[in-house]
Amino acid sequence: MASDLDTLRAELEDRRDRARETIAGLAKTPERGTAQGFGKRIGDGTVEAISRLTEIGVGTSLEAGLERTERALVKLDEGTYGVCDVCGEPIAERRLAAMPDVVTCVDCASGQPRVRPPSRRQ
Ligand SMILES: [Zn+2]
Repeated sequence: MASDLDTLRAELEDRRDRARETIAGLAKTPERGTAQGFGKRIGDGTVEAISRLTEIGVGTSLEAGLERTERALVKLDEGTYGVCDVCGEPIAERRLAAMPDVVTCVDCASGQPRVRPPSRRQ
């Protein structure tokens, strides 16, 4: 089982890196390479790129995707991978298989109330 997690982690790290590259690439000016050298450290540059993309309405989903992937990696470290971040219930295996970086169960992702009122069942 541990090796599965290693594979998963590698996959998530790869996904995260590609998301960062995509965001950085989109934020670049069309004349690539030659243009400005704003101190290219991943992190600062990414944040700047993201806020710029968000302004023009393109970066939101990329940003959300990157954040989710990073969160999934943290959950691997925490040992809470596969557990919903919102309600704490296990996430369905099929859902995890389809989206390895998913951090919420299907109920929470579909806009259910964040906290389920315990007395509200019928
Ligand atoms: Zn949930």
